[in-house]
Amino acid sequence: MTDTRITTTSGADKILEDAAVRQLGAGLHGPLFRSGDAGYDEARKVWNGMIDRRPALIARCAGVADVIAGVRFAREHDVLVSVRGGGHNAPGNAVCRGGLMIDLSAMRSVRVDPVRRTARAEGGATWADFDRETQAFGLATTGGSVSDTGIAGLTLGGGLGWLAGKHGLTCDNLLSADVVTADGRVLVASATDNADLFWGLRGGGGNFGVVTSFEYRLHPVGPVLAGMALYPFSKAKEALKLYRDFATSIPDEVNTIGGLLTSPDGVPVVAIAVCYNGSLEAAEKVLRPLREFGPPLADQIAPMPYRQLQTLLDAATARGRRYHIKSNMMQRIGDDAIDTLVKRFATIPSPLSFVFFQQLGNAANRVDATATAFSHRDALCEWGCLSSWLEPAADDLNIQWTRELAEVMRPFTTGSDYVNQIGLESEEGTERIRAAYGMNYDRLVALKNKYDPSNLFRHNQNIKPTV
Ligand SMILES: Cc1cc2nc3c(=O)[nH]c(=O)nc-3n(C[C@H](O)[C@H](O)[C@H](O)COP(=O)(O)OP(=O)(O)OC[C@H]3O[C@@H](n4cnc5c(N)ncnc54)[C@H](O)[C@@H]3O)c2cc1C
Repeated sequence: MTDTRITTTSGADKILEDAAVRQLGAGLHGPLFRSGDAGYDEARKVWNGMIDRRPALIARCAGVADVIAGVRFAREHDVLVSVRGGGHNAPGNAVCRGGLMIDLSAMRSVRVDPVRRTARAEGGATWADFDRETQAFGLATTGGSVSDTGIAGLTLGGGLGWLAGKHGLTCDNLLSADVVTADGRVLVASATDNADLFWGLRGGGGNFGVVTSFEYRLHPVGPVLAGMALYPFSKAKEALKLYRDFATSIPDEVNTIGGLLTSPDGVPVVAIAVCYNGSLEAAEKVLRPLREFGPPLADQIAPMPYRQLQTLLDAATARGRRYHIKSNMMQRIGDDAIDTLVKRFATIPSPLSFVFFQQLGNAANRVDATATAFSHRDALCEWGCLSSWLEPAADDLNIQWTRELAEVMRPFTTGSDYVNQIGLESEEGTERIRAAYGMNYDRLVALKNKYDPSNLFRHNQNIKPTV
């Protein structure tokens, strides 16, 4: 083997002696991949097929000891680090160029305690892994709306999901986390241990360390009355106003996603998806306005197991396609925002792309904006455009269209992004990242100063230390 060219934390190149890399590899239980190794190219792939970065080293961790070894190695040799959980982040923050990717994708176990109604899940688990185990006991907690999203990134950024109307965001259901910090120690973060770190993990992203496991509160869930109703594009404005009025007047049992998409037969439609998590008899009455309007082109709202709902959007967001996302938080959906969206959607370049409003949820809105690091508690929803296409030749067209849409929509939003949808500072700019943390930014900087003063964990929506 030859020496390895790596990227340092400051972005410079340097040569690492082969002996140092071999020593890291020998100390891991999981494999260490370098360019040219069998498995390297598979290991650097993430959900978004646009992401084509080549880490110098990929440590596929088998357990906490491997994570500690990776962190200490990076510290000792000043190597740029990225952390991969579910690998589902659209801007691809999990994969660095030239550094060390600490890869948790083999750490996916989930253990449920049905008596205490809690679950402990490793940092590489996806919501499919988590829901499978928890639903075996009829339990669940708020998770993502696509089953192969990682629990780690989603929880650390906040976590919007179907159950948030009743149970709050995913981070509101976090009870504790095991964290490998930049100095290679393992800390427990909870309401009683390292409570400041626990606060920061609930919305502060991957800034404070590698979370090797998460412990969540669970709730009895399912079956649910859920699914999607579709309405003709000729009535798009009225249907989106119906969505807005419905979303702002629902009981805690319901949460919603509304949007515009192109149906499989190539026709633009309005889609309203709902989940009613409660008594099915009461649900019929609450959801009636959606089922009577129009009438819908299709009404697929029906009783279903919660796990089935959790895969409803999977086909529309298949792994490996080319993606670009832009989104912002919205406190209200005004008629002007609806008019703009409907007008623009008529020119969307790819039938695979869609625009959406994902509602935060009543219980998520009731939490104080400073109670956790997630600050957007007054937002009704996240608005976004997930553009998707197949051919690299169409990259510029789709990315440009998405950016232009985001610009014309911006005045109708709070101007703040959801942390989980944005990329690195070099792509987004300092102000945008700062705005995503809102009023909690200064407190997060103080935490960064304490837990990661050398900014080892910078390949994310980075909070810069000031020490
Ligand atoms: C199609 C689609 C649907 C989505 N749906 C939802 C949704 O319903 N609700 C919602 O809230 N969000 C949603 N998201 C956003 C999602 O929360 C983020 O993409 C999130 O980053 C995914 O987490 P991951 O572990 O898969 O990410 P990865 O790509 O693995 O990691 C992203 C970043 O998270 C951090 N990270 C990951 N694992 C760890 C760890 N173990 N320890 C420390 N830091 C870590 C790192 O900073 C990393 O760069 C969706 C995204 C997409 C593309």
